[in-house]
Amino acid sequence: MERLYEQGISDVRVLEVIRSTPRHLFLDEALAHRAYEDAALPIGFNQTLSQPYIVARMTELLLAGGRPRRVLEIGTGSGYQTAVLAGLVDELFSMERIRTLQEKARLRLRELAIHNVTLRHADGFTGWADKGPFDGIITTAAPLAIPRELCEQLAPGGRLVIPAGPEHAQHLHVVTRTDQGFDTRVVEPVRFVPLLGGTVR
Ligand code: SAH
Repeated sequence: MERLYEQGISDVRVLEVIRSTPRHLFLDEALAHRAYEDAALPIGFNQTLSQPYIVARMTELLLAGGRPRRVLEIGTGSGYQTAVLAGLVDELFSMERIRTLQEKARLRLRELAIHNVTLRHADGFTGWADKGPFDGIITTAAPLAIPRELCEQLAPGGRLVIPAGPEHAQHLHVVTRTDQGFDTRVVEPVRFVPLLGGTVR
């Protein structure tokens, strides 16, 4: 936690939830010993569990406007970021397009007695309009450009935290829904797997 603090993460709610979420449970056994390194790690299917700093940073940005009650996550993956978010919001909806990853994530969340999460195996590129609007939306994979549909599913004052851009020039963005429309801020360079549209497997 000290490392995250030194890296600039100062929200104590985020630091506390990360401290109490066992990252090793979200990795395959062969990699579990590396769970507490400050590195992105493979979770199969060419996907990765983000580096702890990025998980913390995105969570902190999502919470910066106050405690979001209803949140949508796109890219459940291992379920680690899902577990972190579940401890900080009232209700979480999380979408994943690879069924095997989603099923594993479901078992892990159950094991940790996390019950405020609704998982769905589906393409999340255009969000989950039926469950919206959301106080917060977070994607853990990067589209080339920010999908308009995700912005539209934000409640007034809601925030979308999203990496976007071409493979070697991605940036983390925060889009806030204001009375006038949308306010987009570029935060910092990042490296994510692509947010794929149109297919599930
Ligand atoms: N937050 C995850 C990181 C997973 S990597 C974790 O903590 O482990 C990104 C995930 O996004 C992958 O599992 C990938 O399958 C998923 N993904 C990519 N495009 C998607 C889409 N359009 N809809 C839903 N999930 C998607």
